[in-house]
Amino acid sequence: MLRQKFAHYFLALATLLCVVAGAHAQQKLPNITILATGGTIAGTGATSTTTVGYTAATVGVQQLIQAVPELSKIANVKGEQVFQIASESMTNEHWLTLGKRVNALLAQNDVDGIVITHGTDTMEETAYFLNLVVKSRKPVVLVGAMRPSTALSADGPINLYNAVVVAGSRDAIGKGVMVAMNDQIHSARDVTKTNTSTPDSFRTAELGLMGYIQGGKAFFYRTSTRKHTVDTEFDIANLTALPQVDIVYGYANMNTVALDALVAAGAKGIIHAGVGDGSLAARVKPGLIAARKKGTIIVRASRVGQGILARNGEANDDELDFVAADTLSPQKARILLMLALTRTNSTADIQRMFYTY
Ligand code: ASP
Repeated sequence: MLRQKFAHYFLALATLLCVVAGAHAQQKLPNITILATGGTIAGTGATSTTTVGYTAATVGVQQLIQAVPELSKIANVKGEQVFQIASESMTNEHWLTLGKRVNALLAQNDVDGIVITHGTDTMEETAYFLNLVVKSRKPVVLVGAMRPSTALSADGPINLYNAVVVAGSRDAIGKGVMVAMNDQIHSARDVTKTNTSTPDSFRTAELGLMGYIQGGKAFFYRTSTRKHTVDTEFDIANLTALPQVDIVYGYANMNTVALDALVAAGAKGIIHAGVGDGSLAARVKPGLIAARKKGTIIVRASRVGQGILARNGEANDDELDFVAADTLSPQKARILLMLALTRTNSTADIQRMFYTY
């Protein structure tokens, strides 16, 4: 009788412990906020085989979350719709709004990480902007999809799941802003979209990706050596606009029409996306020199996509008072120059930033 009673109490106690442990495990899930901005991940097409010619940015954040019920097993997820746009329409103002919202959320004790759903066209730019202005070591992960939500084998749901895995991973803390696409983790600084439409579009070619997501876990192998987030000198808290910086693209038979128009329109900085190692065409160089004399900062970048833009290589930057973009793509050089111009007009200082970030 006594034995039976003991067994009964034991069972009750064990059940109680299990319930408490379960609740505890639930509590210990990371708190991840998903900020939705639109893009193909939130896109819809006419049929399940429509993978081009669909409409981006139609599905809301709650629907995106509901499409992946597995999320509740790995994180306490909250959603917030920040914008609903295709990312080709992203502007500096959108970035400032997003950056401020990310900083406000990450300052809260009840937010452990952020996932940003985003169109893929300018995802690398938004990621790099945030990499320079987020003031937290907590993970920030951008994610999108190459196929709309209505497509056969839509990549959005698994990409979103993987992004939440990364954002909730302790190993992701302090690694800067990341992009999670196609089971891979990339650093914001070095990742680029490389294919117009395939799901393996996002690559960090020669410098290498950071890691993988497999079986609901993030695995890291390398990080960028460049400074980011809490270690940058940029602060957007009081900014309502960014200086105008534009890109001129290099090609055979290039002329100065676009350059002259941009300078006349008030560009504070020009990124010259030159051919090769940022070579300056004979008939463009005088225009760049004239622009610099008027005060416009000239950054030499390359349209090639890989490699270091050699300072004093194809042009004597010391003499011309130009800046070399190092390994940054023209579109990312534009972002760094805009932020640099919020701090200084000194080309020496700006060059230092291009070797730091
Ligand atoms: N045009 C879309 C966008 O960037 C493409 C995509 O999301 O894949 O919003």
